[in-house]
Amino acid sequence: MSFFQVVIPPLDQPYVYQIPTTILIPPEIGQRVLVPLRNQRVTGYLWEEAPDPGSDHPIKLIEQILDPQPFFTPSLRAFLSWISRYYHHPLGQVVKVALPPGLAISSLEVIEITPQGTEKLHSSSLPRLERELLTDLTQKRRPWGKLDLEQKKLAARLEAQGLISRIKHLPKEKTRPKKVKWVYPGPGFSEEAFSEKDRPLHDFLQGPEGLPLTDLRLFFPLPPRLLNQWCRKGLLEIREQPCFRNPLGEIYCVEERPVDLTVEQEQALLKIKRALVDGRYQSLLLHGVTGSGKTEIYLRAAEETLAQNRQALILVPEIGLVPQMEGRFRTRFGEKIAVLHSGLSPGERLDQWRRIQVGETPIVVGTRSAIFAPLEALGLIVVDEEHDPSLKQQESLRYHARDLALVRAQLVQAVAVLGSATPSLTTLHLQDRKKMAYLPLTRRVRQRAMPEISLIDLKQYRKGRQGTPLSPPLLEAVRTQVEAGHQILFFLNRRGFEPLTLCTLCGAPVRCRNCSVSLTFHAASQELLCHLCGFHQPLFPLCPACGREGIKTVGWGTEKVEKELKRLFPETVIDRLDRDTVSKKNAHYQILKRFQDRKTQILVGTQMITKGHDFPGVTLIGVLCADLSLNWPDFRSGERTFQLLAQVAGRAGRGPYPGKVFIQTYNPDHYIFEYVRRHDYLGFYRQELKFRREFEYPPFTRLVHILIQGNPETGVRDQAQEIGNLLSREREKRNLTTSLTLLGPVPAPISKIKGRYRWQILLKGKDPRMLHQISAWVQETGKHILKGSGVQLILDVDPVDML
Ligand code: ADP
Ligand code: ZN
Repeated sequence: MSFFQVVIPPLDQPYVYQIPTTILIPPEIGQRVLVPLRNQRVTGYLWEEAPDPGSDHPIKLIEQILDPQPFFTPSLRAFLSWISRYYHHPLGQVVKVALPPGLAISSLEVIEITPQGTEKLHSSSLPRLERELLTDLTQKRRPWGKLDLEQKKLAARLEAQGLISRIKHLPKEKTRPKKVKWVYPGPGFSEEAFSEKDRPLHDFLQGPEGLPLTDLRLFFPLPPRLLNQWCRKGLLEIREQPCFRNPLGEIYCVEERPVDLTVEQEQALLKIKRALVDGRYQSLLLHGVTGSGKTEIYLRAAEETLAQNRQALILVPEIGLVPQMEGRFRTRFGEKIAVLHSGLSPGERLDQWRRIQVGETPIVVGTRSAIFAPLEALGLIVVDEEHDPSLKQQESLRYHARDLALVRAQLVQAVAVLGSATPSLTTLHLQDRKKMAYLPLTRRVRQRAMPEISLIDLKQYRKGRQGTPLSPPLLEAVRTQVEAGHQILFFLNRRGFEPLTLCTLCGAPVRCRNCSVSLTFHAASQELLCHLCGFHQPLFPLCPACGREGIKTVGWGTEKVEKELKRLFPETVIDRLDRDTVSKKNAHYQILKRFQDRKTQILVGTQMITKGHDFPGVTLIGVLCADLSLNWPDFRSGERTFQLLAQVAGRAGRGPYPGKVFIQTYNPDHYIFEYVRRHDYLGFYRQELKFRREFEYPPFTRLVHILIQGNPETGVRDQAQEIGNLLSREREKRNLTTSLTLLGPVPAPISKIKGRYRWQILLKGKDPRMLHQISAWVQETGKHILKGSGVQLILDVDPVDML
């Protein structure tokens, strides 16, 4: 075993390297190595053995093996290879996405001053620029790549004169296990060696265990000088030891383990346990209405998994749901939990990763990227809120964590449990086709009723309600609940103060400079803001289109709703949860915690408030405008709206008092509302499935979305059309005219984002293999014809968001 394929993120393809005879311990697949590449040294991973390429191929040698253990288990490697093939994404970039950040080290070209340079600097007068650069270099080296063209010329001249030299330098790893100081008794440790006054320290430290210095300082002042002195004399010894940063703070909410499960819970759990005992791949859909106790089932399934000496991975769709899930698991399993999510610092992430790797934490709770957690003996994967679009990554590697959960479970013969009150149509359809076991929980725990849902026709109240977003019946209901001391949630999927900025004289909307969307007025900053790119500008009265003073901002965003509610209910504590209020670290958690602890009575928010939270004090929910998602230009808009409404409604009546939900809409006759009111998701599913079949959308077909974006506008259009033409020719050539549908090229619904113009083509077909072959062809062709054009082609397999 001496040749290896080495994956070097983010390079697309692996390269072959040889293990030198100087490395004596046989390396393992998955280990991190340092290899030469062009004139650099870079980090790579041993991916698989390679055959001897023969003597006429000069093969470079691996320079160093960086860690004792491999970074991937064999099954994780197979998983990543699968992902690379399925999503048509280069292996090196898949590996980069999967690993915690900060592991890659590579050599850097730097310039440094030579002894002649130093001498010259002191002995003679040099031109200003040269003197400045040399003086600068006496302080520190500078990376060659960071110099501008002029500086590079100057540096080259100085190098020719021997005053500076260019060298390759290997920087330290960016992220490393944290080390802390521990204090141990030294060789000279004895009672007499300490003075009377320091005797308590002696007694405290007796025994071989040692203590972290920071802990010791809680009890003893230990000034550094004294500490040094004791170490010199051998009384104490200080050793640096790796420690794991602990990102887990206080437990969000502590909960009792319910004694009895409901009958439905028992039945569902029994099936999961059977699957776990079977020890083969199986997938189960836990379809449980909001508040039916799904989490309790996850907890007990995890208990069973641990009892079998296997490990459990619990995925939630977004970071805001981690504290609650983590809290419940920690209450039950203590320190056996690791968390993985984007809120961790690179160091914390690496620590969590290593703890998982060494088997310290058999349970991992995290967001979608936790699907890559290095669990060796995975027995159970749970995906909570499996319908949630946030499980799909929308950039670089566009993977869906729910789909990957099924794939990973299959690769390691684990059990996958997908849970939701409103499963995605795709998942429900799988279950329909008997590809997945179905575990229904139709009732809430403790005989709690589902909330009563009323629809409010906003057309009826159009007149006279300009000043308020609450229709009279809703306002009335709020009054009653506020007086009774209950909690209320308001949901509006639009942040900011007023979402529309336009000229009242010519009607032109004020658009973002970089994106084809209107700007939102934010009162806190008194600015117009683009929600796509963050561009902002002051609010001017002058219309950029007609030049007159007609600019006005209109509509309702969460910020304005909060203000209005504060005016209506001055005595009540009101808070807001949206992207603007959670920008500070921990703010998200704090806002939810205050509401959970009932310090806040009314909470206004975007979809952030809808997901999974368990607030027993909430009795009333106001959905201020249900039409926003219903009018979305996407075939999934009905499904999304139902899911959103069911989720938000599910927050009501989870405690001892029954819940009520008011949904305001301009389209009360839309078919979806009948099902929403009756909590009849399966009825909606059957109805919606008919449309999907008729119009040939998933789950009856599969989609691949091709985005063509860049500059200039005409270039993007021409390239999109060119690719479209080539595609339809290829389709004919391959005899796919009936099995492959091409939609487009057309401008994307949002035709410009961050200054880049966007066109799209949609591929639709029933045969996944055929779709994959044609996708691979598109990608190759795209690479070829777009090279150097400033236009980019992005493939999205099983797209979720096609704006
Ligand atoms: P879901 O995830 O289905 O919305 P949860 O798991 O959050 O529901 O459960 C809602 C509440 O009911 C939690 O406080 C949970 O502790 C409690 N609970 C779950 N199962 C039972 C049970 N069998 N008996 C009593 N309370 C339960
Ligand atoms: Zn913008």
